[in-house]
Amino acid sequence: MVKLISCYVVCLTTLLFGTAGTTLAQSGSAFQIRAVQGNVHMLEAPGGGGNIAVMSGPDGVLLVDDRFDQDVPALLQAVSEITSAPIDYVINTHIHPDHIGGNNQLAAHGVTILAHDSVRIRMLEELRIPRRGGIYFDQPPAAARPVITYSEGITFHLNGEEVQIFLSPPAHTDGDSFVYFTESDVLHLGDVFRTNMYPIIDRYNGGSFLGMIEAMGLAIGMAGPETRVIPGHGFGVSDRAGMLEVQSLLFELRARMQTLIDQGLTLDEILAAAPTADLDPRWGQVASWNATDLLPIIFEELTAVQ
Ligand SMILES: [Zn+2]
Repeated sequence: MVKLISCYVVCLTTLLFGTAGTTLAQSGSAFQIRAVQGNVHMLEAPGGGGNIAVMSGPDGVLLVDDRFDQDVPALLQAVSEITSAPIDYVINTHIHPDHIGGNNQLAAHGVTILAHDSVRIRMLEELRIPRRGGIYFDQPPAAARPVITYSEGITFHLNGEEVQIFLSPPAHTDGDSFVYFTESDVLHLGDVFRTNMYPIIDRYNGGSFLGMIEAMGLAIGMAGPETRVIPGHGFGVSDRAGMLEVQSLLFELRARMQTLIDQGLTLDEILAAAPTADLDPRWGQVASWNATDLLPIIFEELTAVQ
């Protein structure tokens, strides 16, 4: 049995990728493996985007997100450095290609994919994401679709703890799941929480800036002093203080925009005034999404509710 299990990653990699897979495995993982807490590891993705949680133990292996299709060999290699057991489950936190891209290959080898209802529904057509002004991705293959979906949430009882998965308020998208490993005391918040850039509000997929404020409040309310938090994007494991920093940013953005709106400025005038110039060095250094992408969304939401 042990031999069979330990064969899984090597055999699967060889089966899928032949000698190229072997070369990749020999060259080492492209993911940075970080022990988080309890049963949970973090696979920090190259560039800090599309970070994965790996929960492992005697009952099985559960992943949160699986990055891009082409990252599967490196993903399998990284998981094999944590456990010799095969992957049983993947939870997709939301629809974006850097979080669902591994589904197709993993499902073909018996991994069960789960996600919120809206993630599966959005897989029925081509995908559009907000970066670089709104770029398209091909419709994912049918085999990539979650085979189990939920409307509010679902709970795993695995490896001596509950894994609570539940729908966040509309924030990054309208199908964002939070995952809480209760005994390990680890949260994976998907892309509702990113520590290296301004929050992305995906209006193509039901995202909301004001919803993100609500979602961060919910997440912070769940966290204790020892809780460790995996950001969807960002480097390293974060915590409650890291979430409070992001919440402060959200509050600051809302307050600044509201002040300028109350002064009667148009969106063009607000953008010309560069109201986030002091925040941009910390949060606005990712070219595909910066303040000029985010501020119009905040403007629209704040003026819509007046
Ligand atoms: Zn995303």
